[in-house]
Amino acid sequence: MTHTEVAEPHTAGLLDEITVAAASGRAIPDAATGETIGHAPVHTVDDLNAAIDAARAAQPAWAALSHAERSRILHRAADEIEAHAEELAQIIAREQGKPLNGPGARFEAGGCAAWVRQAADTVLEPEVLFEAEGTRSELHYAPLGVVGAIGPWNWPALIAIWQIAPSLRMGNTVVTKPSEYTPLSVLAVAALLNRHLPPGVLTVVSGGRDVGEALAAHPGLDKIMFTGSTATGRRIVESSAHNLARLTLELGGNDAGIVLPGTDVPAIAQNLFWGIFINTGQTCAALKRLYVHDSLYDDVVQALAELAETTPMGPGTDEGSALGPLSTRQQFDVVSRLVEEARAAGARVVTGGKPAPELGAHFYRPTVVADITDGVGLVDEEQFGPVIPVIRYSDLEDAVARANASAQGLGASVWSADVDEALAVAARLEAGTVWINQHGTLNPQVPFGGVKGSGYGMEFGREGLKAVSAPKVITR
Ligand code: NAD
Repeated sequence: MTHTEVAEPHTAGLLDEITVAAASGRAIPDAATGETIGHAPVHTVDDLNAAIDAARAAQPAWAALSHAERSRILHRAADEIEAHAEELAQIIAREQGKPLNGPGARFEAGGCAAWVRQAADTVLEPEVLFEAEGTRSELHYAPLGVVGAIGPWNWPALIAIWQIAPSLRMGNTVVTKPSEYTPLSVLAVAALLNRHLPPGVLTVVSGGRDVGEALAAHPGLDKIMFTGSTATGRRIVESSAHNLARLTLELGGNDAGIVLPGTDVPAIAQNLFWGIFINTGQTCAALKRLYVHDSLYDDVVQALAELAETTPMGPGTDEGSALGPLSTRQQFDVVSRLVEEARAAGARVVTGGKPAPELGAHFYRPTVVADITDGVGLVDEEQFGPVIPVIRYSDLEDAVARANASAQGLGASVWSADVDEALAVAARLEAGTVWINQHGTLNPQVPFGGVKGSGYGMEFGREGLKAVSAPKVITR
């Protein structure tokens, strides 16, 4: 493990703005060291009610602005994020733990600005549905009203922006509830937006699960954008029976990848590795089960193990780190348990398979597990950590059937030297996105969402704007 120069954290300005005195806040630990970064405000259900009242009051004036005016404001907010991207990245790297470099904290901070700009620039024109002599029907997209946004801890700032930016663009106001593990990243990015938004248009309620529950059930809401686990998603569906809030549910994933015979293993190795280990595996649409044809099995296992052994792991703020800690103790325990169960079931731990306590309490070595098959927790459940089970197959029909046997359906990937062959397999996989020779890459103009237990509704692009709008037909 190489530890090169440690970046000086320059978080003082933004961090001071979003944190509160120790006596009135909750200590938020650095994921790598456990040291307190700062204290997050502890908001209550009363604070939530006040935020929703303020959002309702602010919404008509915000909706009355033209699309061009809201777009100008959002671009100014994106400029603000870019101007403070390094401060934001440092907060993310410390709180969530992802390294600054590569597809890490600087990428997340830059993505926040990029997704705000994309929402600002996407246009949802009315569509002509029917036209005949003397009559014309058009479909318009009106704001819904107040959007409640509830997010997870793994890409806290970016996922908050995915929920907030399209909602604001369409003339909604937003109350957002970050994960209790990563409130600072969301408070920070929202503070930057709020330097340009009118009061009440965007409020962060930094509370626990009780506040999330109250938000999902609140009668003053028109829409819930939820990203998190499938279990919590089900609770939110139940809450929506009462307020009839529309839902976008981005839930858990257990993405399968299939490597076809004839694939050039050295050519795909880097993409394969980062499709699995991005954010140390704590990514909804990371590759979590890899099915490899018998003819390439040993080569793929070896290529992944070599990359796992040579990719530097360390604190997120260390410029040399490419992999970081697990964000929380709970996640560390999930990963450790799944590896131990796999080992007990006879699987072969090729590399890793143990914590790295010399780096910090939540570090777990990047792990490749071979000679394993379906029916073991590490294959059947979402591990959400730096561990990949590699499953051997000889019959493609069988691999496709096993990939589709999951209750989840967020992403999937096919790896092949023959794109036509890969496309034919992609058409048969049950997932919201299927990637070819890559996994988990996202584009703000290309819609993203899951099927089956991974939820419903799409984010990004025009589809994302439609999801935070009320369709309204005007006939004359
Ligand atoms: P989680 O479901 O435990 O928590 C998510 C959020 O929901 C938190 O803010 C939490 O406070 C809140 N919450 C908890 N109970 C609630 C309730 N009853 N009502 C309303 N809100 C409630 O998920 P997590 O552990 O923070 O995130 C990890 C999960 O998120 C993984 O399963 C991952 O795959 C998934 N995820 C999905 C996507 C996607 O786009 N599909 C993206 C990132 C993460």
